[in-house]
Amino acid sequence: MKRITIRKGFDAHMHLRDGVMMSDVLPFTTNQFAGGVAMGNLPGNEVLDSFEKNLAYLEKIKALAPSFNAVVPLMVTRELLGRASYIVKTALKHGIKVFKFIPAGLTTNGAEGLTLYDLYTNPFTELLEELEENGIIFSCHFEVGTSRIHDDAPVQMLWQEQEAIRFLQYLLEVYPKLKIVVEHASSYAMIYFIEKLPEKYQVAATLTPHHAIVNYWDVCNPDGNIYEPLKYCKPVAKQEQDINVVKLAMCSGNPRFFAGTDSAPHLYGIKLSQKSAGIFSAPVAMQTYTEIFEQLGRMEYLENFTSVFGPQFYGFQPSDEKITLVKEQERVASSLYDIPVFRGGDVIPWSIIK
Ligand SMILES: [Zn+2]
Repeated sequence: MKRITIRKGFDAHMHLRDGVMMSDVLPFTTNQFAGGVAMGNLPGNEVLDSFEKNLAYLEKIKALAPSFNAVVPLMVTRELLGRASYIVKTALKHGIKVFKFIPAGLTTNGAEGLTLYDLYTNPFTELLEELEENGIIFSCHFEVGTSRIHDDAPVQMLWQEQEAIRFLQYLLEVYPKLKIVVEHASSYAMIYFIEKLPEKYQVAATLTPHHAIVNYWDVCNPDGNIYEPLKYCKPVAKQEQDINVVKLAMCSGNPRFFAGTDSAPHLYGIKLSQKSAGIFSAPVAMQTYTEIFEQLGRMEYLENFTSVFGPQFYGFQPSDEKITLVKEQERVASSLYDIPVFRGGDVIPWSIIK
């Protein structure tokens, strides 16, 4: 039977939530990933925007999974801006090396009142200077909901990432040494832009399993309304040509692209009634990545994508622990702990040996 043994992975983008849900979902991550970046936009309006909250959250993860190398970014909010030099110094003192920015109005708990347009103005510019100078990673959700070029007209979900490329371009022009993570790149335009950047720029992008599989038309109807909330995430799934480019970038062996599942559990009822963005992919993440690499005949690049390029960008040693996947069909549970699971009900070709 076909099998592959690789280093345990590094999930550079995931949502572990809090409380009971955290203890429910965390094992699905830790059985395949040795570490990762746990995002601080929690449901219920909790945002890890202070050092106390940030460190307390990290402690919670450590208490449940002591050997898991968790990174918890500090969330950029309006309060945090304007004290850039103090904030960055204190962050470094606490070992926080990643700042995360989610513009308002896009997904779970975006930064209130701040959009990508604020990147152009003080006090955001001061923060960016400090991040650049101190080698702190700026992890950003690049999507824009309205277009100022068109009198603040709303941008359709399908094009919100593509519209945001110019903000990335601006950051590179003004802060050429800034380390940037483009979270969950999903459009061919964004991926081509990153692929073609000169080597001197320290830009990388995380790629999710679902953006390599789910099609926009399985989620939204032609007027842009969501008809399948279980497959809804932000950025929204794209179209065939984007899906192909996501897969090619994944399997390219280019260190700018690495695993970040954006696994984001929501309870069934909430996912259906509120159409919350997010897909719980942790239970099938490594199996799905493996399937894609096999499809493209690129198995020899799998380990770099899942387990090496990510830690390298974040400044860690890749894990020495190993996991083995075997080509043995497995039916994915539709839900776990009342959380709908990505690919639930499907039979998938690869499974993890426990
Ligand atoms: Zn996310």
